[in-house]
Amino acid sequence: MKISNIQKSLQNLITGEVWGDDEILKFYSVDASLYQIIPKVVVIPKTENEVISVVKFANKNRVAVTARGAGTGLVGSALNDGIIIDLKNLIQLVLKKIMLR
Ligand SMILES: Cc1cc2nc3c(=O)[nH]c(=O)nc-3n(C[C@H](O)[C@H](O)[C@H](O)COP(=O)(O)OP(=O)(O)OC[C@H]3O[C@@H](n4cnc5c(N)ncnc54)[C@H](O)[C@@H]3O)c2cc1C
Repeated sequence: MKISNIQKSLQNLITGEVWGDDEILKFYSVDASLYQIIPKVVVIPKTENEVISVVKFANKNRVAVTARGAGTGLVGSALNDGIIIDLKNLIQLVLKKIMLR
């Protein structure tokens, strides 16, 4: 699947952000490790359901998908050449759920 098609499909799928600009891709191509891998697309979903939709899309279209938290991993685990899901918007949701337990 073409990169532009992946971006368009994801834009139609979620209301969160979908990025394909070079600067953004470069930012997400590194974490706290020494590695660099340029992703095809970066998405910043707004809800859990949007995360699920992106993962289903990635699975259906055989595109690698990786969750990213703060990007502080030391071995490049938050990097890939497919879709990066930035979960920073959802941290409050996760914290609320933990506090309600
Ligand atoms: C200065 C420094 C000191 C550190 N000290 C320690 C230490 O003392 N002990 C220690 O254990 N670690 C330490 N680390 C490592 C780092 O803090 C951990 O790897 C951290 O848990 C990574 O979290 P992150 O949200 O930044 O994940 P990322 O770096 O974004 O991703 C790391 C991995 O977690 C996955 N991931 C991220 N978010 C999610 C999610 N919501 N759901 C599922 N998978 C997800 C990613 O896919 C990736 O595989 C240190 C790092 C730095 C930079």
